[in-house]
Amino acid sequence: MPYQIDDTHDPKLESWVESANDPETDFPIQNLPLCSLSVGFHEEEEKSDRHIVGDPFVRIGNSILNIQECFKDAGVMSGCGFNVLADVQALASLDSTSRGLFRKRLSEIFSANNPKRKEWQERVAPFLYDVNNLDDEVFEWVTPICPRDYTDFYASLYHATNVGSMFRPDNPLLPNYKHIPIAYHGRASTIVPSGTPVRRPWGQLIEGNVGSESRPTRAPCKLFDYELEVGFVVGRGNERGEPISIEEAEDHILGMCLVNDWSARDIQKWEYQPLGPFLAKNFATTVSPYIVTMEALAPFRCPAMERPAGDPTPLGYLTSEANTASGGVDITLEVFLSSAKMREQNIDPVQLSKGSFKDMYWTIAQMLTHHASGGCQMNPGDLLASGTVSGPTRGARGCMLELTWDGDPFASPPVIVPGTQRTPIKLPTGEERKFLGDGDEIIIKGYCEREGFRRIGFGECRGVIQPAVG
Ligand code: MN
Repeated sequence: MPYQIDDTHDPKLESWVESANDPETDFPIQNLPLCSLSVGFHEEEEKSDRHIVGDPFVRIGNSILNIQECFKDAGVMSGCGFNVLADVQALASLDSTSRGLFRKRLSEIFSANNPKRKEWQERVAPFLYDVNNLDDEVFEWVTPICPRDYTDFYASLYHATNVGSMFRPDNPLLPNYKHIPIAYHGRASTIVPSGTPVRRPWGQLIEGNVGSESRPTRAPCKLFDYELEVGFVVGRGNERGEPISIEEAEDHILGMCLVNDWSARDIQKWEYQPLGPFLAKNFATTVSPYIVTMEALAPFRCPAMERPAGDPTPLGYLTSEANTASGGVDITLEVFLSSAKMREQNIDPVQLSKGSFKDMYWTIAQMLTHHASGGCQMNPGDLLASGTVSGPTRGARGCMLELTWDGDPFASPPVIVPGTQRTPIKLPTGEERKFLGDGDEIIIKGYCEREGFRRIGFGECRGVIQPAVG
């Protein structure tokens, strides 16, 4: 594994940025995640086009540092082996050694105990901004990377088994599942930053079960859903035709973020066979503002999920000792819902689920290795997402499709019920939800904790649902 625990993870490290020392912050000096903001004066019209590459920033406490300005004017990065960083994509293109030096230098700059502290503090101060006091005429948050390509996997055995049980009770898992990290190619064009409203899509819908006599109508989606996912961003790419080995895979990953793969279940039900999701998932995908780097995640690595007894061993190109021993990442993930009525009545969002990314059947290294194994070119900044993160218990299910479903193939004995039998979630306002309503906001949070280390967080991935057009 290219990412080791070092001085930058020392839990005793404190920063001269006071807010970074707050025990509650997601962004202590041990984290230092990357984010992007478009900097300049904006016309209102321009603000609606959000698929833009921003300047690279790093977040610490309640502040963000403009790395590009820092490189140009503060001269604090000399000795790191590179001296220009146009955007986060450019950082992704570097090898892990250079990225390690970059992290080390940032850690030194922000450290409260460094002998050069005063000098560095003075040099970076002009490029450090308080996030609670940003002039929104000048700064606009954009997606942390602007991927050219986006792929969404299906790497949770629990999610795949739950969903499979609804539609194929006798045969929930297809024969390929335990051999191939399954995925579909999504749309980079509709990836939006956290906070962007998401409009309910129109599509072809079928009443009842899909059969040879089915005749669709075109209407707004009725079964609107979110999917709790973790994204990982490609660092260095590969040449077309040249695979990435499982041993090298993590060296090609920049870091991780939170993803909401909004899904129209009724559109999906009719269109997904035989080639997979299409309009059900290509209208919006929300990503969190920060990429937590693989370097920052080093203390929170864990073994890959232990395969249940009797499961096949993956083929050789998807297997390595290091991947089995530490290919997992223990990220606690929580999802909250707030309806429009709850916000009117000042009621806090309710928690829908809590789970961990360590419960994924396939690791990020296996997903990337398989993706490139046929010769597919991966580019710096490409976004890969894990698929819905669900765990073994009902409270760890990562979408409404699973949460409100009454079946439980992991109970003992297993409870398999038809896909339509659901218990709604009751909200404090008396409202009920089997799927999501207009005005509902979904908030995803993620964080890593381990005894002996500082807790680090991913920030939030949010989006409010707007009614369908017309
Ligand atoms: Mn998905």
